Amino acid sequence: MENIKTVNDFNFKNKTALVRVDFNVPVNNNQSFQILDDTRIMYSLPTIQKIISDFGKVVIISHFGRPKGKYSKIYSLRFIISYLSDKLKIPIKFSESCIGQSVEKKISELKNGEVLLLENIRFYKEEENGNENFAFQLSKLGDIYVNDAFGVSHRSHASITMVPKFFVEKKCIGFLMKKEIQSLKKVLGKGKNPITILLGGAKISSKIAIIENLIKLVDYVLIGGGMSYPFIKAQGGKVGESLVDEYKDLKMLQKIIEQYKKQNKTKIFFPKDVIIADSFKDSAKTKMASIHSIPNGWMGLDIGPKSINHFCEIINSSRTILWNGPLGVFEFPNFSSGTFSIAKAIVKATQNGAFSLVGGGDSIAALKMRKYETKISCLSTGGGAMLESLKNKILPGIKAIIS
Ligand code: AMP
Repeated sequence: MENIKTVNDFNFKNKTALVRVDFNVPVNNNQSFQILDDTRIMYSLPTIQKIISDFGKVVIISHFGRPKGKYSKIYSLRFIISYLSDKLKIPIKFSESCIGQSVEKKISELKNGEVLLLENIRFYKEEENGNENFAFQLSKLGDIYVNDAFGVSHRSHASITMVPKFFVEKKCIGFLMKKEIQSLKKVLGKGKNPITILLGGAKISSKIAIIENLIKLVDYVLIGGGMSYPFIKAQGGKVGESLVDEYKDLKMLQKIIEQYKKQNKTKIFFPKDVIIADSFKDSAKTKMASIHSIPNGWMGLDIGPKSINHFCEIINSSRTILWNGPLGVFEFPNFSSGTFSIAKAIVKATQNGAFSLVGGGDSIAALKMRKYETKISCLSTGGGAMLESLKNKILPGIKAIIS
């Protein structure tokens, strides 16, 4: 991975760069296409600017939403044109088609320093199918391929894994990708100790393999939110109506945890106390309970004050922190204090010199609700891609650049 080429290894003068970005940004759903979070665009701008300042030509490929292989106005990337033009301070050209004569003509007319944005690549079903002929058609659009789409680099889609095959030596990653790779490296065993991983959220199945891998590499694993209840249940605790998913898989994991506990290596901690509710709503009746004895008819929706203190102490003492997944149903104000307290502790640790990496849409949303997003060392632009990387797998999109 050390010798992966970046845009800095190329001079783009008179060359056309085919840049795969991830402009799949959240927009408000009233069809005015107001961008709610432009992190992904902002992090890719330096890559585009580098090519422009070299006097190269830029052809941008991106997806947006899930149009399922056919044109749909609500998934058009047109709304990005004026936004990108504002940020780059140059006019942006647009192509309705991603392959074929019309787009090839537009590219042949492109001058050095100009940018052409292609329409949503997912309007072609061949993209998600990883179609090789489609990838070949795309490869004709540029001289050098650049992957700056971390958020989708765990997918074997045509523009991610097939297109680079046609570029042999002339392919590289952009600055956004480089930043993501370096941040993950800091966590995966190369960071300053103590290294703490904090996992919350609800999708337990997507995070089990991560725990297995990280347990060997880090000092503390803190598990909270909906993630914790299956573990408690597996240990014989009573979790009432709390979220319990993939219980069978967790038995195997429980064994691993026990093994590590015996070896006294990585320390895994769960919440001690939780705020329980009599229904899944913000206005539910609540009380405090031990996480091991939640009565029937009640469910844990946030971590309690003892757990907050315990987790915050560990975070305060850590030099490297990774966080993915909220500690409770933070969308309900009455169950948000665990998530916000943890976010605050991570900000404080960062201010005291720790390296912090936060990924996953909900954790980043929680940071933004408190205006903490600029106080974290690195926000990951890809929740799923970050989780896949944490399983110690080289993402298909990165592999395609190296091989
Ligand atoms: P994930 O996509 O796996 O990171 O899950 C994020 C979701 O987990 C958020 O919408 C939270 O509301 C939800 N969540 C966190 N803690 C709990 C909990 N104790 N019970 C139910 N849902 C939870």
